[in-house]
Amino acid sequence: MSQENIVIRGARQHNLKNIDLVLPRNKLIVFTGVSGSGKSSLAFDTIYAEGQRRYVQSLSAYARQFLGVMEKPEVDYIGGLSPTIAIEQKAISKNPRSTVATVTEIYDYLRVLYARVGTPHCYVCGREVSAQTVQQMVDIVFRFPEGTRVQVLAPIARNRKGTFADTFAALRQQGFTRVRVDGEVVELSDGLSLEKNQRHSVEVIVDRLSVSHDEEFRLRLTDSVETALALAEGLVLFATADGRELLMSRDYACPYCNISFPPLTPAMFSFNSPLGMCPDCNGLGFKTEFDPRRFVDESLSVREGAIRPWGPLGTYRGWRTRIAESVLSLFGQSLDTPWRQLPTACQQALLYGGEGIPFEGIIRQYERRYRETKSDYMRRYYASFMSRQLCQTCHGARLRPESAAVTVAGKTIVEVTRLTVRDALAWVQSLHFAGEQAAVAADVLKELEQRLRFLLNVGLHYLTLDRPAPSLSGGEGQRIRLASQIGSGLVGVLYVLDEPSIGLHQRDNRRLLDTLEQLRDLGNTVIVVEHDLETILSADYVVDLGPGAGLKGGYVVAAGPPPAIMAEPRSLTGQYLSGKLQVVAPNGRRPLGQKAIVIRGARHHNLKGIDVSFPVGAFICVTGVSGSGKSSLVAETLYPALANRLHGARKREGRHRGIEGLEHVDKVINITQDPIGRTPRSNPATYVGAFDHIRRLFAQVPEARARGYKPGRFSFNVPGGRCEECQGYGTKRVEMHFLPDVWVTCNACKGARFNRETLQIRYKGKNIAEVLDMEVAEALEFFQHHRALARILQTLKDVGMEYVKLGQPATTLSGGEAQRIKLAKELGRADTGRTIYILDEPTTGLHFADIQKLLNVLHRLVDAGNTVIVIEHNMDVIKTADYIIDLGPEGGDEGGYVVACGTPEEVARVEASYTGQFLRRALGLVPAAEEEPSAAERQAESVLCR
Ligand code: ADP
Ligand code: ADP
Ligand code: ZN
Ligand code: ZN
Repeated sequence: MSQENIVIRGARQHNLKNIDLVLPRNKLIVFTGVSGSGKSSLAFDTIYAEGQRRYVQSLSAYARQFLGVMEKPEVDYIGGLSPTIAIEQKAISKNPRSTVATVTEIYDYLRVLYARVGTPHCYVCGREVSAQTVQQMVDIVFRFPEGTRVQVLAPIARNRKGTFADTFAALRQQGFTRVRVDGEVVELSDGLSLEKNQRHSVEVIVDRLSVSHDEEFRLRLTDSVETALALAEGLVLFATADGRELLMSRDYACPYCNISFPPLTPAMFSFNSPLGMCPDCNGLGFKTEFDPRRFVDESLSVREGAIRPWGPLGTYRGWRTRIAESVLSLFGQSLDTPWRQLPTACQQALLYGGEGIPFEGIIRQYERRYRETKSDYMRRYYASFMSRQLCQTCHGARLRPESAAVTVAGKTIVEVTRLTVRDALAWVQSLHFAGEQAAVAADVLKELEQRLRFLLNVGLHYLTLDRPAPSLSGGEGQRIRLASQIGSGLVGVLYVLDEPSIGLHQRDNRRLLDTLEQLRDLGNTVIVVEHDLETILSADYVVDLGPGAGLKGGYVVAAGPPPAIMAEPRSLTGQYLSGKLQVVAPNGRRPLGQKAIVIRGARHHNLKGIDVSFPVGAFICVTGVSGSGKSSLVAETLYPALANRLHGARKREGRHRGIEGLEHVDKVINITQDPIGRTPRSNPATYVGAFDHIRRLFAQVPEARARGYKPGRFSFNVPGGRCEECQGYGTKRVEMHFLPDVWVTCNACKGARFNRETLQIRYKGKNIAEVLDMEVAEALEFFQHHRALARILQTLKDVGMEYVKLGQPATTLSGGEAQRIKLAKELGRADTGRTIYILDEPTTGLHFADIQKLLNVLHRLVDAGNTVIVIEHNMDVIKTADYIIDLGPEGGDEGGYVVACGTPEEVARVEASYTGQFLRRALGLVPAAEEEPSAAERQAESVLCR
């Protein structure tokens, strides 16, 4: 058994056909093939699952009890397996406290940096705060010119009320003779006492000296400073004859504001630690509070209903009218004054009450009731008057004020986390420390620089470090994980990745590949499931699965370096790689009409107040590098704006000035990658409506009629025909404590989901469970004579989903598959011909051959008069667009402009457009002489050179 290879024998998971495979270790390996051919079944459900299972087995029995039993994948043997890590496209964290900086550990290193070399500042007056030794204080005065007259004072009280009689008596006893009271020198006479009810500042005059640069003076000064520090609890004040004063502190304290600061520790900069978090918002940066804006309608008077919870008061003199009147009259106002014209004090009184106001205030009243109520319903009602507001104590900084005021090279940690990855890297590189600090900071800076560089290399330069992790896209999350893995420097690991190119512009693809190669060169094996041409050509080894999907797939069609795949005539992938096959636009380009939806002044996130026109009845691609603003424009502005106006939805719209052209459309549909259902009871058949037809067919079988079974008998959502043990799930949920729930096959029905009696009913020889176990392609043949059902199944086939099983649980479908099933459902509807369809990267998970199918379907929708808007990076799709809107030029702040728009040829002519550059090549517009070697040629060359 050679350790050079990973050996797989007899893999049969899902559709895999008992395959044997030998994979080289420490190489970059790509698994490719049409959607449903078995790539994930091999990469994740066999190789990764087995790696995980062995890992769990190596743990203690105690740890295993939490992890449960992991099922062994259907495989005879796997040899040469190293520890495996999957880098998936899932959200990195749902915790609102997680940010880009925390999940990458960048924040941990920043905390150390700030604790070790940070300069504290007083958060009230901004002065630098430092702790000084007696020696340092003495040295400062010692450097005054010879002969300077200096008083050494002990500030014992600052702005404090009291007579100070006892203090003065004690001082007299200790031999002091003078004090300064509010700046005036006063003899410490017997019985001296101050005005009791006034505030005073008191300093004891410890010594008066004339500076002389000799040892005797130094000794006396040291003595006096120590005396003063003892009297004034760590403070000393030097006052010179010309009126200059110098206050110093032995502790970390601002002697001017009388605030002391704890010594700096990394925990002080953590918004998750009680030592660091803003005490007001517990480190969240925002608070959910009653919002005055939800309580009042400013345009109305109180009688007309300005106070929303009260509504219009009318003429009836109820208690509300009486209370409102009595408050308003205190300010000389009436029930009929519009809210906006009421004096602020009067508005405040109605909202918050106050001294002498005969009403506690509507907001105070709701706050109290919210605290007191026991009813969940009422609590939700009160909560509807709350909104998320920036914390007024930390203004979103999330840290306690002492921590938020510490600087390194003039920037606070809060300011640094507001930088983008690229700017943060520049800042870190600009830092230079001297002496001891340099030694302390060196390691931390190295770690910071490395981690930031990894993020830069995977194309995430535009993300700000404080960006909440839950707001990142799946692709961004995956690339962050990838960056962290390289940072971890592990060796001898088998990494499995799922389509890392998703969400990435062609321009940034090369850097991503470099990163994968770097991971390999560290001494790891990297397996990626990928369809991207450039990635496949960069691989050391390619495994092409197929030839078809589902039952028709599961074989290794070709395996070897890319040229070997191209040379294999049976490999569909090979034919696309070599250019023998190409993705083409189904019906050529459509002419653009005059009608358009126009968004004006879009300013959401990084959008720069742009006007964007979406021609109606066209196939439109919105393009641009990652972070350029595509989702902000399409998914977060255009879509909600249309949905709110066309369907009366109440979605949050990204900021924009207006939208025009609504008269050209009557419906908008956003086909997202969200799951089609959250439990295993949802599946493709239920989602597209095929299951209703199937149940009716089963209820019409003679045996079913004889038994009186209705269609409901064949439902697994209601009791009757389903297996009650698992309530029709076929699997049972096992709660895993701190891990996600796990579903295990039901013992009673063995996953069939129905009870024995129901399963006795057969339609054309198959029972209901067997039908649900059919793939779409099989089912289409099986039901070909049932027109309505066949039509629905055909739509699933049209979007390339012929390989899914009718009853495949929604929880096992990928985002791309879910999106295509939704698309199938839309195809099955009687469409209006005036609909706008919006899709975000529909090519996710698609092989060249599948992209062709998808394009056929999308263009069919446009041919029927509809408008299709897709966010895409795939050049095969972009080049078939009628109209392209290219955003950028960069991600983040440097993006948000329309760089180019028009037909593909027009965009290809725009120098500044990255998409244009790649389009020129895709459209064959680059003169042969200038053309760079294609990825295929580069690969061929490098093979020759070996
Ligand atoms: P690919 O990754 O190439 O798109 P998959 O490995 O996901 O393909 O799917 C291969 C086959 O296995 C398909 O027929 C699919 O329907 C089936 N399959 C995938 N996951 C599951 C699952 N959890 N349960 C049952 N069948 C599955
Ligand atoms: P694209 O879709 O082109 O990748 P996005 O619209 O997602 O770009 O992002 C555009 C800009 O807005 C980026 O700078 C991104 O970091 C920022 N952004 C996106 N979502 C959020 C969010 N939830 N909070 C803060 N900034 C965001
Ligand atoms: Zn201060
Ligand atoms: Zn706060």
